[in-house]
Amino acid sequence: MAKVILKHVSKIYDNGVRAVDDFNLDIDDGEFIVIVGPSGCGKTTTLRMIAGLEDISEGELWIDNVLVNNIPPKDRDIAMVFQNYALYPHMSVYKNMAFGLKLRKVPQEEIDKRVREAAEILGLQALLDRKPKQLSGGQRQRVALGRAIVRKPKVFLFDEPLSNLDAKLRVQMRAEISKLHARLGVTTVYVTHDQVEAMTLGSRIVVMKDGKIQQVGTPLEVYSSPVNKFVAGFIGSPPMNFLEVIVEQSGDNYYLNEGSFRILLPKGRFKNISEYVGRKVIMGIRPEFLYDRGSYTGTVNENVISANVEITEILGAEQYVYFATEKHPFIARFDPFIHVRLGEKREVVVDLEKLIIFDAETEYVVS
Ligand code: ATP
Repeated sequence: MAKVILKHVSKIYDNGVRAVDDFNLDIDDGEFIVIVGPSGCGKTTTLRMIAGLEDISEGELWIDNVLVNNIPPKDRDIAMVFQNYALYPHMSVYKNMAFGLKLRKVPQEEIDKRVREAAEILGLQALLDRKPKQLSGGQRQRVALGRAIVRKPKVFLFDEPLSNLDAKLRVQMRAEISKLHARLGVTTVYVTHDQVEAMTLGSRIVVMKDGKIQQVGTPLEVYSSPVNKFVAGFIGSPPMNFLEVIVEQSGDNYYLNEGSFRILLPKGRFKNISEYVGRKVIMGIRPEFLYDRGSYTGTVNENVISANVEITEILGAEQYVYFATEKHPFIARFDPFIHVRLGEKREVVVDLEKLIIFDAETEYVVS
């Protein structure tokens, strides 16, 4: 088990691409960190630098109080699990798991003990004699996990380990990785572009864009208090709605005016809103914080949007209603039993406690 510290870490590839820019993170012993972001944001590069598979161009990487920038991968005591399993096709499951230990000259007895232990944890006991091609995708990924576990590393690194699996298996393996972490308690860094994986697995999430960290926080912090429009739009599904509005003032009341509706802001909630009077800002509201007026029991006070129903999708446990005002489309997440007709005009209540305002230029949150 180990602490991992990245101090001002950057990666500049030979072609001049700055793939990771000033990455700072203190990872506590036993933490499960998920790095999430769109394709090309630098997640894999960050992970490969921790593993030692990529040189660090700038900054320092510390593992358990040792500066490891110049320590080769095999001496970092780290195990990495990849998206494509990378199993040896001609070796049995047992040998695939034992191979790394053999290379390290671990005594045969100890190898056998560790392989059998890992097989038991992962439910692979009956498959130890099979070759990888005789296994399902989920079983292969389990063997890849087993190979990492037997090493008893200080740190686990996962690079999109579930992306080759079908949706159902992905959910199942996700739960298994969570259980495995709870059981072994090994410090883990997990890379994914899937925000659901990030939310469900991470003790903390690191959201990246264009090589830079945007925000670090627990899943709930990142979901409830995103620092900017990018994070707000990336975390949560369906994504947060963004509507361009103008800030207006009347006496000591502040409003967001969209053109087809106007919202009265709760007093004192946005301390800096007076700086924005007469200016354009972005109103952010998640689909789950928009309610159907017909079934809403709370009080309504100038927090209603009137809009046309364009499409509705019933998913069983919920329905997504795609609305449009004259200027903006937006999505609301309703109870599936609310009967919504295509083309009708409906009133939607905005949960003002959950409303977020973004500066239209910087895209940072207005507090
Ligand atoms: P994905 O989800 O698509 O795997 P990622 O977030 O893991 O993306 P990286 O693979 O870390 O992103 O790549 C970050 C940036 O660095 C990208 O712009 C990519 O094109 C560039 N890059 C990656 N590897 C190299 C390389 N060997 N040489 C030059 N540029 C590279």
